[in-house]
Amino acid sequence: PTPARRRARVAAPVEAPAPTDDELLSVRDLTVAFTSEGVQTTVLDRVGFDVRPGETVGLVGESGSGKSLTSLAVLGLLPSGAEITGGSIRYRGTELPSLGPEEYRRMRGSEIAMISQEPMVALDPSFRIGTQVAEVVRTHDRCSRREGRERAVHLLDQVGLTDPEGVARKFPHEVSGGMAQRVAIAQALAGRPKLLIADEPTTALDVTVQAGILDLLVRLQRAHGMSVLFITHDWGVVADVCERAVVMYAGQVVEQASVIDLFERPQHPYTRALLRSSP
Ligand code: ADP
Ligand code: MG
Repeated sequence: PTPARRRARVAAPVEAPAPTDDELLSVRDLTVAFTSEGVQTTVLDRVGFDVRPGETVGLVGESGSGKSLTSLAVLGLLPSGAEITGGSIRYRGTELPSLGPEEYRRMRGSEIAMISQEPMVALDPSFRIGTQVAEVVRTHDRCSRREGRERAVHLLDQVGLTDPEGVARKFPHEVSGGMAQRVAIAQALAGRPKLLIADEPTTALDVTVQAGILDLLVRLQRAHGMSVLFITHDWGVVADVCERAVVMYAGQVVEQASVIDLFERPQHPYTRALLRSSP
């Protein structure tokens, strides 16, 4: 069935908990619609959840449930044709959708960073890796070229790349997918974000490489006290890296709880089905 058809069978979305003082990201009743040939379709319906400082929150659901659109709405990067038609996205007290494009761009660099399934998208094929990571460093902290370069190599080292100097001299197409994802993570960290949105960051990688990237993200989250919104359809990953998870189905949040509660006492039929079908 189409998402719209399925949605009709789903009850109203669960209420997000009341916002707390130490909130980092607070999404409330976020509604997003696509307009095509004059017809408007609601694709996110009153989505609500929080990410608190230092927390790793999973955003879980099958393909097409609205996970990526939720993250793109937070980042101010919705595709053309999609628009926010209701609700609020507050980041440290600022209503994000009310920001101008330039302010939003700055926010994306320094406060909220994203890595995605396809690391090559984040990398420019025509520049050496060290040059582009250094460039990101220098847009955030005005420093000399030399210092930018040194910090870039340090970041490449931090994300577990052996021979960071050598990697810095390479072009993106000269490294493996797993290495490229580490470079993309280094680039995302260059602005010292407080929130990292990771949209299925291991899906496109070999199984053997996936675990290494997950370990890295957990290690970085702990070392930097960063918050992570971890988008995945894989419950194994949720169990490994998340404290809480938000379950999406057909554009709605159907359940959110601690990972322990979700595994032991799933409340929503969809969560139960998703857990059962998980490898
Ligand atoms: P997920 O990341 O959970 O796989 P998405 O957030 O990418 O899901 O998409 C949610 C829904 O939004 C999809 O099922 C699709 O119906 C709709 N959608 C996504 N992108 C577009 C688009 N460019 N045009 C029209 N509808 C879209
Ligand atoms: Mg997606």
